[in-house]
Amino acid sequence: MQGICLLGATGSIGQSTLEIIAQHPDKFVLINASANESVDKMADICRRFKPQRAVMGSEKACNELAQQCQGLATSFEWGEAALDSIASDSAVDQVMAAIMGFAGLKPTLAGVRAGKRTLLANKESLVTAGKLFMDEVAHHEVTLLPIDSEHNAIYQSLPQTSSGAHKRDVSKIILTASGGPFRTWSLSDMGSVTPAQACKHPNWSMGQKISIDSASLMNKGLELIEACWLFDVTPNEVDVVVHPESIIHSMVSYRDGSVIAQMGNPDMKIPIAYGMSWPDRVETNVAPLNLIDVARLNFESPDLLRFPNLKLAADAWFMGGTAMAVLNAANEIAVAAFLNHQIGFLDIAKLNERVLTVANIVAVNALDDVFEADRYSRHLALDMISRGKFS
Ligand code: NDP
Ligand code: MG
Repeated sequence: MQGICLLGATGSIGQSTLEIIAQHPDKFVLINASANESVDKMADICRRFKPQRAVMGSEKACNELAQQCQGLATSFEWGEAALDSIASDSAVDQVMAAIMGFAGLKPTLAGVRAGKRTLLANKESLVTAGKLFMDEVAHHEVTLLPIDSEHNAIYQSLPQTSSGAHKRDVSKIILTASGGPFRTWSLSDMGSVTPAQACKHPNWSMGQKISIDSASLMNKGLELIEACWLFDVTPNEVDVVVHPESIIHSMVSYRDGSVIAQMGNPDMKIPIAYGMSWPDRVETNVAPLNLIDVARLNFESPDLLRFPNLKLAADAWFMGGTAMAVLNAANEIAVAAFLNHQIGFLDIAKLNERVLTVANIVAVNALDDVFEADRYSRHLALDMISRGKFS
C-alpha cells in the first residue's frame, strides 16, 4: 500500500490523481491533501477519502473546511509550514506535486528532502530552481517521476538503465506540442483573443494557468527547460515539434536512427497512474487508443514569430542563473493580468521579454537567490503593467 500526499488536490491533476486512488483502493491511500482556497471541493475530498491531514492556504479557509467536515478525524491545518510538513510526513510514501506555479516549489522540495518518491506535475519548481532541485534529488536518492505527459513519455522512451548508457546513445529528444487553440490563427486575430478562448484547449482539460501557457506556447518553453533539467541535456538537444492530435506525447531519437515514442489518448490519468505504480502499471479508465479512428498524425514546426515565448525560454536557459526564475515569475504575473483583462494575449510574451531583458540576472548559489529573483521579477512585471511600459 502506497500512502499519497496530494499537493493541489482540488486542481485538474489533483482530481485525476484521486480517480486513480479511488480505482485502486488496494494499492493507494490518500494520507494528506492540500488546496489553497477551494473549501467546498476540499470538503468533498475529505469526506470521501478521509485523509489524516488537510492543509489550506489561509486560516479562514481552514476554519471553513473544519466547519464543513465536523465529525471527521482529519486534522485541519493551514499555511506554508503545514504544507511542508504534510509532504515530509512519515506516513507518506509518495508526494504528488500538483500545486500551480512557483508556490509549489517549497513543499515539493520538502518532500524531496524527506526522501519521498516525487511525482512531479509542478514544472515551475524545476524551471525556477532546476540545479538545486536536481542536486537535492540526487543527494536524497529520490525517485523522481515526471508527470507532465511529454516528460513522462520521454522517461518511458529512454532506456531504463542505471549505467548512463542513454547519454551516449540518444541523439535528440523530440518534445511534441499540440500548438494550442491558436495554432492556425493570424497574429492580428491573436491580438484580440479573450481569456475564455485561450483557456479552451483543443485536446486537454487543464487548470487555467497551464491552459493559457499552452495557448501562448510558454508551456512548451517551460517544458523545454524542464526536459533539460530532468534529462541532463541543453535546448540544442531538444527539438520541439507541433503535433496537433496530441497522440504521440514525445519521442526519443537514438544514434542508430531508431525513434521511440510513447502514445495514448490525451488524458493525464495515464502518466499519473504510471508515476504512482512505477515500475509496475495499473489499469486506468482511459479509452484504449484506436489508431484507425485517429487515422492521421500531423507534424509541423513551431512558429516562433507568433509564439516568441518558446524562444524566450531557450534564451533564459542559456542565460542561466536566475534567468529562468525571472521568466517564470514574469509569466505568472502576465497570465494573471491577462485573465483579469488587464493586458492582451500578445502582451504576455512582450512583458516576458521585457522583464527578461531588463532584469538583473545573477548566479543561483542558494534557494534564497531563486526566491529573491521571483520577488524581484514579479515586482518588475507588475510595475511595467501598471505603467503600461512593456511593448
Ligand atoms: P489547477 O489550477 O487546476 O490546480 C492548482 C491546484 O493548486 C489547486 O489545488 C489549487 O488550490 C492549488 N493552488 C493554487 N495556488 C496555490 C497556492 N498559492 N498555494 C497552494 N496551493 C495552491 O492546476 P493544474 O492541476 O492544471 O496544474 C497543477 C500543476 O501541474 C501545474 O504546475 C501545471 O503546470 C502542472 N501540469 C498540469 C497538467 C494538466 O493537465 N492540468 C499537465 C502537466 C502539468 P485551489 O483549488 O484552492 O485554488
Ligand atoms: Mg505537458
